[in-house]
Amino acid sequence: MHITTEEIFEEFEELDPRDQSQFLLELGYDLPRFPPEEQRECDLIHGCQSQVWLTARAVEDGSDPVIEFRADSDAEIVRGLIAILLASYSGHTASEILRLPINDVFTRLRLKQYISPQRHNGLQGMVDRIREIARRHAPCTAYTEQSPVQVVLRQQSPAQTVASIDPQEIRRQFPVLNQVLEDGLTPVYLDSGASAQKPQVVIDKEREVEEQYFANAYRGRYRFGARIDEELETARQKIATFISAESPQQIAFTSGTTATLNAVAFGWGTHHVGAGDEILITEMEHHANFVPWQQLAIQRQATLRFIPMTDDGQLDISRLDEVLTTKTKLLAVCGMSNVLGTVNPIKELAARAHEVGAVIVVDAAQSVPHQVTNVVADDVDFLIFSGHKLYGPTGVGILYGKADRLNETQPILFGGHMIDRVYKDHSTWAAPPARFEAGTLPIVQAIGLGTAVDWISGLSVEAIHNHEQRLLRSATEQLQQIPGLTIFGPSVDHKGAIISFRIDDVHPEDLAIMLDRRAVLTRHGHHCAMPLHDLLGVSATTRASFAAYNTDDDVTALVSAIEYARDELPRRP
Ligand code: PMP
Repeated sequence: MHITTEEIFEEFEELDPRDQSQFLLELGYDLPRFPPEEQRECDLIHGCQSQVWLTARAVEDGSDPVIEFRADSDAEIVRGLIAILLASYSGHTASEILRLPINDVFTRLRLKQYISPQRHNGLQGMVDRIREIARRHAPCTAYTEQSPVQVVLRQQSPAQTVASIDPQEIRRQFPVLNQVLEDGLTPVYLDSGASAQKPQVVIDKEREVEEQYFANAYRGRYRFGARIDEELETARQKIATFISAESPQQIAFTSGTTATLNAVAFGWGTHHVGAGDEILITEMEHHANFVPWQQLAIQRQATLRFIPMTDDGQLDISRLDEVLTTKTKLLAVCGMSNVLGTVNPIKELAARAHEVGAVIVVDAAQSVPHQVTNVVADDVDFLIFSGHKLYGPTGVGILYGKADRLNETQPILFGGHMIDRVYKDHSTWAAPPARFEAGTLPIVQAIGLGTAVDWISGLSVEAIHNHEQRLLRSATEQLQQIPGLTIFGPSVDHKGAIISFRIDDVHPEDLAIMLDRRAVLTRHGHHCAMPLHDLLGVSATTRASFAAYNTDDDVTALVSAIEYARDELPRRP
């Protein structure tokens, strides 16, 4: 006779947290074990880190029979979880099983504190299997479709709205901006579009991990390993909340935007784009969101098409029907251009893409730091960004996908952690996100990114956006007064915090070097957007990009440094 849920609750409530986790193990010790002949491959539950076998028996015939479950695992802690599941589900009718709010049981037992996130996935797998069996036996009216474990894991942080930010106070939090350089100047950092600087809290968090509990993730159950798993999953949850994803299971840690766009192009695109199909992109894309689609089109004998652009550097949505047709399988577009600053109407593009049955992939590398991102409201299929542009570490990026899209995406990196089962002649894959996280993750960076997201959310993305737009407007108005200076891209109302410009007869590289003499740090070149520069008819531009820590003084410094450079530099004839 199994222990009942009530008995488990009673025992739990009397114990302190350390003993509760011991009790979970003891529940496992007491569970009857399967003899080796019953540990059958066909009864294995996939998605579990350990081996879990589960069998079911309908005790009586009829439309709503009582079902008895038996289960076993090779890990004692999992056997403890099994004991809880059996106590909750076994011996109940199919419709009772489907109606049971198993989340309430998990919440009451505070399971999240005792088991790793991977175990949560395994637990989800067991619950899914039990419900699937019950569903087969239950009358149709008993169906209640929800994903119990995921609901428990999702925790919305309360929305914070801060009307404005104090850029001087923010600037003080960035050590790199507060140093006196060798020439006695302090840096005026205007290259956040390439990489943002990191606030002290992010630097401290990375240091804390390295100094206090670093270990590999999802490997060890010793205390460092357990802490790392918890920190990593907390970061995953924060990032999910930050972009309003439905579940943290839809957030995969990757190495950056470039790697992730390739993963979608060749993990999804290869299997869904064929000869004669069309891939739609834009000429304003960064090479990271251009070359993978171009190469996919070549490999799959598909056609790469482009949304026409207006003269001021926006997408010409009035001409979208010319290029978006039932042949289009995929639309890949940036949320914000890294050269023009143009902000694209993602929600509208997603709706239009879906009308013709295409999926939309958003390169959000530039947009995520500057505007609120809501993947559900915008209804995007995939959304991708990098940590280093979001005040976080380098080497970490994010893949968000709708659950169905992720499930139909094949991995392109194979190895440890991303598998479900490896046989000598073939392998099966873990469920997302693990499927896309082969090998050792950028652990410290991912945790640091979670802290960066906290930091931004603490200020509020809206407040950062308002501040940056004010700087952008002021800089634009002042730069427009400089004779011979041309700004590329739309008006401030249609763009984010980036200004790319040229001065007649001055090469952008020479200009950037002169600006550096005044410690005004800007970027020059084609900014990994050659097709766009071809369209603009120039080989390079100088780019100033703004972030939360930039101030009015930075704008003044930029303008005066440009005037200085213009006077100093010899003009080409
Ligand atoms: N897309 C856009 C719009 C970008 O600005 C960048 C970075 N410049 C990338 C993709 C590539 O990002 P990463 O170098 O982090 O892979």
